[in-house]
Amino acid sequence: MEVIRLLAKALDENCYVVREDERITIIDPGYGVSTELAAFEDKKHLRALLTHGHADHIFDLDQIETDEIIIHPMDKPMLLDAEKSFLNLFGKNALLLGGKKVLSTEVLRDRWKCLHTPGHTEGSCCFLFDERFLFSGDTVFSASVGRTDLPGGDHDQMTSSINRLKELFTKMPDLIVFPGHGRQTTARIILRENPFFM
Ligand SMILES: [Zn+2]
Ligand SMILES: [Zn+2]
Repeated sequence: MEVIRLLAKALDENCYVVREDERITIIDPGYGVSTELAAFEDKKHLRALLTHGHADHIFDLDQIETDEIIIHPMDKPMLLDAEKSFLNLFGKNALLLGGKKVLSTEVLRDRWKCLHTPGHTEGSCCFLFDERFLFSGDTVFSASVGRTDLPGGDHDQMTSSINRLKELFTKMPDLIVFPGHGRQTTARIILRENPFFM
């Protein structure tokens, strides 16, 4: 198993590739990562997993050959509407998903667990892998949390999502946290240094 970070430079967004024996999971394929991702399009089962539906996290989604796309149902409308996802602001029309299967985060199992953490968007999720890694999207960064002033954002929901994550981080301080923007960190460091968790 390995986790690879690809930086979508133009929008400074982190895409992560998680390789397991039988499967590759691409988390948040942002602007420009499809060229690098082509290297992973081998015979393995390839799937895209989205922390939420904002343009910077889904930009290259229709440029990669995935068998399926997994997103929380509350953010699914953003995949189909370039205004809702803000893709239009970056000069891109609706994603061309063809016949690709779009599945709910409920399908995640085995080593993968979905934590629905609304606040940044209604369907924002954090994904726990192997009880060791957390892909936190735009919900939590190393020293801050996601904004709540965009459509679908909600300050009170963010507060309760943070409280739930605080419990998780206290129970699992060694958790490695891979955020949607910025450097990776750990639960322990977030509890100590992130003002929203202190
Ligand atoms: Zn976002
Ligand atoms: Zn983002």
